[in-house]
Amino acid sequence: MKLSQRVQAIKPSPTLAVTAKAARLKAEGKNIIGLGAGEPDFDTPLHIKDAAITAIRNGFTKYTAVGGTASLKQAIISKFKRENSLDFTAGEILVSSGGKQSFFNLILATIDPGDEVIIPAPYWVSYPDMVLIAQGKPVFINTGIEEKFKISADQLEKAITPRTRMFILNSPGNPSGSVYGQEELQALGAVLRKHPEILIATDDMYEHILLTSDKFVNILNACPDLKARTVVLNGVSKAYAMTGWRIGYCGGPAAIITAMENIQSQSTSNPNSIAQMAAEAALNGDQSCMIPMVEAFKERNQFLTDALNSITGIHCLLSEGAFYAFADARQAIKQLQSQQVLQDSSDVAFCSYLLEQAEVAVVPGSAFGCEGYMRLSFATSMENLREAVKRIASLLS
Ligand code: PLP
Repeated sequence: MKLSQRVQAIKPSPTLAVTAKAARLKAEGKNIIGLGAGEPDFDTPLHIKDAAITAIRNGFTKYTAVGGTASLKQAIISKFKRENSLDFTAGEILVSSGGKQSFFNLILATIDPGDEVIIPAPYWVSYPDMVLIAQGKPVFINTGIEEKFKISADQLEKAITPRTRMFILNSPGNPSGSVYGQEELQALGAVLRKHPEILIATDDMYEHILLTSDKFVNILNACPDLKARTVVLNGVSKAYAMTGWRIGYCGGPAAIITAMENIQSQSTSNPNSIAQMAAEAALNGDQSCMIPMVEAFKERNQFLTDALNSITGIHCLLSEGAFYAFADARQAIKQLQSQQVLQDSSDVAFCSYLLEQAEVAVVPGSAFGCEGYMRLSFATSMENLREAVKRIASLLS
């Protein structure tokens, strides 16, 4: 059967693949600890669930406006104002079925074949493949633990060509856990200012999973003059433990938002009506519901980082945001290969070894464009984390 060139250019999400493999081994009776998850292990707060139940009871179960209800858009406008000091009007807001669809709409609305999209690596797995679906060209800027996984203004400058159409920035970053500060963003903004044809996509999905005492800033806070060509992407999935509800949103220039909405109108139409009511309750409701979750992530972050750093051959920074430890395993891999335990020096071989021998599922760094690393999610209990690092340590010792 002939498949399109478009689909042949992409691969299934590697993070979902690890989760699926771990689930398969579990079903076979293995005692697998899964650290592959990209979602909070907390329940959606009750007041949010109640809003959805009320929506069902009230018969709010029909199509809504394609780009989201007027009242949810208003809640998003208020959120952007309250938390980010950003002003948007309803025509500059689009609600989609998850942050993933927001991004997909953006790429399809703006990227033509051959257009280059600059993506700092390590990156969220979906960016490059979405660009490939649009037949654009992902251009990576590589970083490692030495740079705290953050790009410099100089690197950005060097990656720009006459074909560059978009620059993607994700802070707090998945998988790196790194957060860009005001000055770093200003430096990147100074480069972008010289290239008015480049669109900026800031993926703020982990805005609220901030593990330091620093206040969240995005590139528009650092460089307000870039607003006419910046799209701010966010969603309720991570902040309110609502991954299954599938509500993402963005704010940006009206012409781009309208184009994205047109794509959405010919693909999925409106996001789920009930989930929109729930998202509205999340954004308008008591924001302290996030505190226990973020506090738990802070504690686990510290524990996991310390524990990983005590294993020979593994190095890990304390994450500043999101709920992942992104550990440098290059030394451990080298050592295992020299002992002929691993067939090759890839992080895939290393992570398979951990899965088979320690029964711990982690995602190889190469899935995120950063060979030699592994991502461990701490969106799981302390008990699981303790057991997982104990197993990894005893396997590698
Ligand atoms: N952006 C980043 C960096 C993510 O990690 C994710 C989810 O893993 C998303 C966007 C999309 O979130 P969702 O589609 O679940 O709302």
